[in-house]
Amino acid sequence: DLAAWQRSLRAQFPIVVAHPELAYLDSAATSQKPQAVLDAVQHYLTTSNANAGRGTYPWANATTALVERTRARVKEFLGDPAPDCSAVHFTAGTTDGLRTVARDWLPAHLADGDEIVVPFADHEANLTPWLEARDLLARQGVRIRVRELPYQAGSGDYDPAALAAVVGPHTRFVAATHVHHVYGGDMNVHRIRQAVGPDVPICLDAAQSIGHLPVSVAELDVDFVVFSAHKALALPGTGVVWSRGRRGPRFAPGGWDGTPNTVGIAALSAALDWLEQAGPDRIAQWCTALAARLTDGLNRMTAYTVLGCNLSLAAGSAVQRRTAIVTFRHRDIGSGDLGFILFSHGFMVRTDNHCQAGAGEREHSVRVSLHVHNTVEEIDGLLSVLAGLP
Ligand code: PMP
Repeated sequence: DLAAWQRSLRAQFPIVVAHPELAYLDSAATSQKPQAVLDAVQHYLTTSNANAGRGTYPWANATTALVERTRARVKEFLGDPAPDCSAVHFTAGTTDGLRTVARDWLPAHLADGDEIVVPFADHEANLTPWLEARDLLARQGVRIRVRELPYQAGSGDYDPAALAAVVGPHTRFVAATHVHHVYGGDMNVHRIRQAVGPDVPICLDAAQSIGHLPVSVAELDVDFVVFSAHKALALPGTGVVWSRGRRGPRFAPGGWDGTPNTVGIAALSAALDWLEQAGPDRIAQWCTALAARLTDGLNRMTAYTVLGCNLSLAAGSAVQRRTAIVTFRHRDIGSGDLGFILFSHGFMVRTDNHCQAGAGEREHSVRVSLHVHNTVEEIDGLLSVLAGLP
């Protein structure tokens, strides 16, 4: 049964177990780490720590093998149907990965008059790099047009019908997000593919979906998947750009010309094993149920407004499934104060404007983000503190 399964997983997070008086509700900012990931780091550093792709002695060979094995592991985790035609490039994180695509791939594939479609109201890491690429090209005399990936008003999801009107013969690239870091919905990326047709490369920011939803590149039919290891139970300073070669040359910058974050890669490999064992589907089921419980509780209290209104499961919305993120505002209490009050009861949440640069929610809010270690008791405890506020 799901509850017993969850208890056995929660028990594997040492920092969570050590602090029963606290509730970590900020996994979208960074995740806590299960023991298996801590063990993998310790194991790597105490058995074969060396640089990768260089020496020929056993530790160096083991490290090179670890990096190559992890590339294959990432492809497998993403359900890559043609691993021989794809590439996994390690970066420092999602921000670095998106910037790498924007700097090293995009300009080489665009010409004067081309258009790209990007989200204006998603995490700024998925906007700024595309604008910088446009400005870089402009300095070289190549003018490209950046168009907005449209949202359905107030829904927290893209609008595929409106997107079809934005896409035209000059569209060369689309950047999208799988799970919005404030609204928390699964953005139904397969509908973007339907709207843009088979030939336009799609780059997916999967920072909030890896480990929270099954992410299948075959099903989503995307060309780039970018994510951060630290949000997927591994360490900060490691990220992934997965890309496929179906539309143009494979994207493989770097090679072995720098030292990869081998410790982070060892952690990522263990984290992907752990997540696969736990099952992203079941994790999604658990977190979605908690998020729905929280959303329903907030919707019953007049003082709170939940952002991304179509996402309420209570309203029976079939549009979209909410994942592990619920963001809300109190009528009178600012997000900083609310965060302070909540921590006085042991609840750790995210406050402020959530790095959302574009035309979306500029006002501050409180974000609760979950992972598989979170419990019904934590959600009910949070709701009862929120209910006690004026
Ligand atoms: N995209 C999304 C959707 C995110 O939630 C985040 C992290 N908040 C990022 C990109 C940036 O990730 P990182 O800070 O690990 O580079």
